Amino acid sequence: MGDQATYEAFVAQRRAQIMDRLGEAARVSGRDASEVCVLAVSKTVGVDEVVCAWHAGYRVFGENRPQELRRKAEGIAASGEMDGVRLDMIGNLQTNKINQVISSAYLVHSVSSLHLAEAISKRAASRDALVRILLEVNVSGEASKSGFSPVEAREALDRVMGLPSLSLEGVMTMAPAHDASAARATFSGLRELRDTMRADCGLPLDVLSCGMSDDFGIAVEEGSTLVRLGRIVFDPAYELDV
Ligand SMILES: *Cc1c(COP(=O)(O)O)cnc(C)c1O
Repeated sequence: MGDQATYEAFVAQRRAQIMDRLGEAARVSGRDASEVCVLAVSKTVGVDEVVCAWHAGYRVFGENRPQELRRKAEGIAASGEMDGVRLDMIGNLQTNKINQVISSAYLVHSVSSLHLAEAISKRAASRDALVRILLEVNVSGEASKSGFSPVEAREALDRVMGLPSLSLEGVMTMAPAHDASAARATFSGLRELRDTMRADCGLPLDVLSCGMSDDFGIAVEEGSTLVRLGRIVFDPAYELDV
Protein backbone atom coordinates (compact mmCIF):
# COMPACT_ATOMS: atom_id res chain seq x y z
CA MET A 1 0.00 0.00 0.00
CA GLY A 2 1.27 3.43 -0.96
CA ASP A 3 0.27 5.00 2.34
CA GLN A 4 2.13 2.42 4.32
CA ALA A 5 5.26 2.93 2.24
CA THR A 6 5.02 6.70 2.68
CA TYR A 7 4.65 6.36 6.42
CA GLU A 8 7.53 3.93 6.60
CA ALA A 9 9.73 6.39 4.68
CA PHE A 10 8.72 9.18 7.06
CA VAL A 11 9.59 7.10 10.15
CA ALA A 12 12.97 6.16 8.68
CA GLN A 13 13.82 9.73 7.74
CA ARG A 14 12.71 11.02 11.14
CA ARG A 15 14.82 8.39 12.84
CA ALA A 16 17.89 9.65 10.99
CA GLN A 17 17.17 13.18 12.25
CA ILE A 18 16.65 11.93 15.80
CA MET A 19 19.89 9.94 15.73
CA ASP A 20 21.75 13.01 14.40
CA ARG A 21 20.50 15.12 17.24
CA LEU A 22 21.23 12.41 19.78
CA GLY A 23 24.74 12.02 18.39
CA GLU A 24 25.36 15.74 18.64
CA ALA A 25 24.11 15.87 22.25
CA ALA A 26 26.32 12.92 23.13
CA ARG A 27 29.30 14.52 21.43
CA VAL A 28 29.05 17.86 23.27
CA SER A 29 28.89 16.03 26.58
CA GLY A 30 31.76 13.70 25.76
CA ARG A 31 29.59 10.61 25.65
CA ASP A 32 29.07 7.90 23.10
CA ALA A 33 25.61 7.84 21.49
CA SER A 34 25.58 4.06 21.80
CA GLU A 35 25.23 4.50 25.57
CA VAL A 36 21.71 5.83 25.04
CA CYS A 37 18.76 3.52 24.46
CA VAL A 38 16.07 5.07 22.27
CA LEU A 39 12.66 3.84 23.35
CA ALA A 40 9.80 4.54 20.93
CA VAL A 41 6.61 5.34 22.82
CA SER A 42 3.90 3.62 20.79
CA LYS A 43 0.89 4.55 22.94
CA THR A 44 -0.79 6.63 20.21
CA VAL A 45 -0.23 4.26 17.29
CA GLY A 46 -1.21 0.76 16.21
CA VAL A 47 0.78 -2.37 15.53
CA ASP A 48 1.27 -1.44 11.84
CA GLU A 49 3.11 1.74 12.82
CA VAL A 50 5.15 -0.19 15.36
CA VAL A 51 6.19 -2.59 12.59
CA CYS A 52 7.25 0.42 10.46
CA ALA A 53 9.36 1.66 13.37
CA TRP A 54 10.89 -1.78 13.72
CA HIS A 55 11.85 -1.70 10.04
CA ALA A 56 13.40 1.74 10.60
CA GLY A 57 15.60 0.31 13.35
CA TYR A 58 13.78 0.81 16.67
CA ARG A 59 14.08 -2.20 18.96
CA VAL A 60 12.56 -0.95 22.22
CA PHE A 61 8.99 0.27 22.63
CA GLY A 62 7.05 1.72 25.54
CA GLU A 63 3.40 1.77 26.51
CA ASN A 64 1.71 3.66 29.31
CA ARG A 65 -1.38 1.51 29.85
CA PRO A 66 -1.37 -2.13 30.94
CA GLN A 67 -4.16 -3.27 28.61
CA GLU A 68 -2.53 -1.59 25.62
CA LEU A 69 0.84 -3.10 26.50
CA ARG A 70 -0.78 -6.54 26.47
CA ARG A 71 -2.60 -5.79 23.21
CA LYS A 72 0.60 -4.58 21.52
CA ALA A 73 2.55 -7.57 22.78
CA GLU A 74 -0.04 -9.88 21.23
CA GLY A 75 -0.22 -7.89 17.97
CA ILE A 76 3.55 -7.86 17.68
CA ALA A 77 3.74 -11.59 18.27
CA ALA A 78 1.07 -12.11 15.61
CA SER A 79 3.01 -9.97 13.11
CA GLY A 80 5.73 -12.61 13.23
CA GLU A 81 8.31 -9.96 12.34
CA MET A 82 9.77 -8.56 15.49
CA ASP A 83 11.94 -11.23 17.01
CA GLY A 84 13.71 -9.93 20.10
CA VAL A 85 11.54 -6.85 20.49
CA ARG A 86 11.45 -5.28 23.94
CA LEU A 87 8.36 -3.67 25.43
CA ASP A 88 8.57 -1.49 28.54
CA MET A 89 5.84 -0.18 30.84
CA ILE A 90 6.28 3.55 31.25
CA GLY A 91 2.95 4.75 32.65
CA ASN A 92 0.98 4.83 35.83
CA LEU A 93 0.33 1.31 37.10
CA GLN A 94 -2.47 0.30 39.44
CA THR A 95 -1.93 -2.68 41.66
CA ASN A 96 -4.88 -4.59 40.15
CA LYS A 97 -3.23 -4.39 36.69
CA ILE A 98 0.16 -5.74 37.67
CA ASN A 99 -0.43 -9.22 36.29
CA GLN A 100 -1.05 -7.83 32.80
CA VAL A 101 2.33 -6.19 32.85
CA ILE A 102 4.78 -8.53 34.48
CA SER A 103 4.55 -11.20 31.82
CA SER A 104 5.03 -8.77 28.87
CA ALA A 105 7.17 -5.86 30.10
CA TYR A 106 10.95 -6.05 30.09
CA LEU A 107 11.31 -3.06 32.42
CA VAL A 108 8.75 -1.15 34.50
CA HIS A 109 9.81 2.53 34.58
CA SER A 110 6.94 3.85 36.64
CA VAL A 111 7.24 2.43 40.13
CA SER A 112 6.00 5.50 41.95
CA SER A 113 5.47 4.25 45.50
CA LEU A 114 6.68 1.66 47.97
CA HIS A 115 3.20 0.20 48.05
CA LEU A 116 3.39 -0.48 44.30
CA ALA A 117 6.90 -1.94 44.57
CA GLU A 118 5.71 -4.34 47.27
CA ALA A 119 2.65 -5.33 45.25
CA ILE A 120 4.73 -6.04 42.13
CA SER A 121 7.20 -8.11 44.10
CA LYS A 122 4.42 -10.14 45.65
CA ARG A 123 2.78 -10.88 42.28
CA ALA A 124 6.12 -11.67 40.70
CA ALA A 125 7.03 -14.04 43.52
CA SER A 126 3.84 -16.01 43.03
CA ARG A 127 4.88 -16.58 39.40
CA ASP A 128 8.55 -17.20 40.07
CA ALA A 129 9.36 -14.07 38.06
CA LEU A 130 11.94 -11.36 38.57
CA VAL A 131 10.76 -7.89 37.52
CA ARG A 132 13.19 -5.15 36.51
CA ILE A 133 12.07 -1.77 37.80
CA LEU A 134 12.98 1.90 37.97
CA LEU A 135 11.83 4.20 40.72
CA GLU A 136 9.90 7.13 39.29
CA VAL A 137 11.08 10.30 40.99
CA ASN A 138 9.36 13.67 40.94
CA VAL A 139 12.56 15.67 40.76
CA SER A 140 10.96 18.95 39.71
CA GLY A 141 8.46 18.86 42.59
CA GLU A 142 5.48 19.76 40.40
CA ALA A 143 2.22 18.87 42.12
CA SER A 144 0.87 17.33 38.91
CA LYS A 145 3.60 14.70 38.75
CA SER A 146 3.63 11.35 40.48
CA GLY A 147 6.56 9.55 41.98
CA PHE A 148 8.83 9.56 44.97
CA SER A 149 10.33 12.83 46.12
CA PRO A 150 14.13 12.60 45.98
CA VAL A 151 14.25 12.19 49.77
CA GLU A 152 11.60 9.46 49.70
CA ALA A 153 13.46 7.63 46.95
CA ARG A 154 16.59 7.43 49.09
CA GLU A 155 14.56 6.38 52.11
CA ALA A 156 12.80 3.66 50.09
CA LEU A 157 16.04 2.04 48.92
CA ASP A 158 16.48 -0.41 51.79
CA ARG A 159 12.93 -1.65 51.57
CA VAL A 160 12.98 -1.96 47.77
CA MET A 161 16.28 -3.85 47.84
CA GLY A 162 14.76 -6.20 50.37
CA LEU A 163 11.98 -7.19 47.98
CA PRO A 164 13.07 -10.54 46.59
CA SER A 165 11.36 -10.48 43.20
CA LEU A 166 12.43 -7.03 42.06
CA SER A 167 15.62 -5.95 40.38
CA LEU A 168 16.20 -2.22 40.85
CA GLU A 169 17.93 -0.91 37.73
CA GLY A 170 17.76 2.86 38.12
CA VAL A 171 15.48 5.89 38.19
CA MET A 172 13.06 7.68 35.89
CA THR A 173 11.67 11.20 35.75
CA MET A 174 9.65 13.61 33.66
CA ALA A 175 10.68 17.24 33.28
CA PRO A 176 8.42 20.30 33.31
CA ALA A 177 7.15 21.02 29.79
CA HIS A 178 8.22 24.00 27.66
CA ASP A 179 11.02 25.14 29.93
CA ALA A 180 14.50 24.12 28.80
CA SER A 181 16.35 25.34 31.88
CA ALA A 182 13.91 23.64 34.26
CA ALA A 183 14.27 20.47 32.18
CA ARG A 184 18.05 20.62 32.45
CA ALA A 185 17.89 21.12 36.21
CA THR A 186 15.49 18.17 36.48
CA PHE A 187 17.75 15.84 34.49
CA SER A 188 20.92 16.82 36.30
CA GLY A 189 19.02 16.48 39.59
CA LEU A 190 18.04 12.94 38.61
CA ARG A 191 21.64 12.05 37.80
CA GLU A 192 22.90 13.47 41.10
CA LEU A 193 20.20 11.65 43.00
CA ARG A 194 21.18 8.42 41.25
CA ASP A 195 24.82 8.97 42.19
CA THR A 196 23.83 9.48 45.83
CA MET A 197 21.58 6.41 45.81
CA ARG A 198 24.33 4.37 44.20
CA ALA A 199 26.68 5.34 47.00
CA ASP A 200 23.94 4.57 49.55
CA CYS A 201 23.16 1.09 48.31
CA GLY A 202 26.04 -0.17 46.18
CA LEU A 203 23.87 -1.16 43.20
CA PRO A 204 24.97 0.19 39.80
CA LEU A 205 21.58 1.84 39.10
CA ASP A 206 22.73 2.23 35.52
CA VAL A 207 19.45 3.31 33.98
CA LEU A 208 18.57 7.01 33.89
CA SER A 209 15.26 7.12 32.03
CA CYS A 210 14.63 10.73 31.06
CA GLY A 211 14.07 12.88 27.99
CA MET A 212 11.05 13.01 25.67
CA SER A 213 10.40 14.50 22.22
CA ASP A 214 10.83 18.13 23.29
CA ASP A 215 13.83 17.76 25.57
CA PHE A 216 15.79 14.58 24.80
CA GLY A 217 18.88 16.46 23.60
CA ILE A 218 19.16 18.19 26.97
CA ALA A 219 18.55 14.89 28.75
CA VAL A 220 21.38 13.20 26.85
CA GLU A 221 23.70 16.10 27.66
CA GLU A 222 22.83 15.56 31.33
CA GLY A 223 23.50 11.83 31.30
CA SER A 224 20.28 10.12 30.24
CA THR A 225 20.81 6.48 29.27
CA LEU A 226 17.27 5.97 27.95
CA VAL A 227 15.11 8.52 26.14
CA ARG A 228 11.38 7.93 25.71
CA LEU A 229 10.25 9.39 22.39
CA GLY A 230 6.65 9.43 21.24
CA ARG A 231 5.44 12.20 18.93
CA ILE A 232 8.82 12.85 17.35
CA VAL A 233 9.03 9.22 16.23
CA PHE A 234 5.49 8.62 15.03
CA ASP A 235 3.76 11.92 14.31
CA PRO A 236 4.40 13.59 10.93
CA ALA A 237 2.79 16.77 12.30
CA TYR A 238 5.38 17.06 15.07
CA GLU A 239 7.78 19.80 14.05
CA LEU A 240 11.43 19.45 14.79
CA ASP A 241 12.93 22.77 15.74
CA VAL A 242 16.20 23.46 13.98
C1 LIG B 1 3.83 9.79 26.21
C2 LIG B 1 5.02 9.61 27.06
C3 LIG B 1 6.31 9.88 26.58
C4 LIG B 1 6.58 10.44 25.19
O1 LIG B 1 6.20 11.78 25.11
P1 LIG B 1 6.50 12.62 23.76
O2 LIG B 1 6.47 14.04 24.23
O3 LIG B 1 5.39 12.27 22.81
O4 LIG B 1 7.83 12.21 23.28
C5 LIG B 1 7.38 9.65 27.43
N1 LIG B 1 7.21 9.18 28.67
C6 LIG B 1 5.98 8.90 29.17
C7 LIG B 1 5.86 8.38 30.56
C8 LIG B 1 4.85 9.11 28.38
O5 LIG B 1 3.64 8.84 28.89
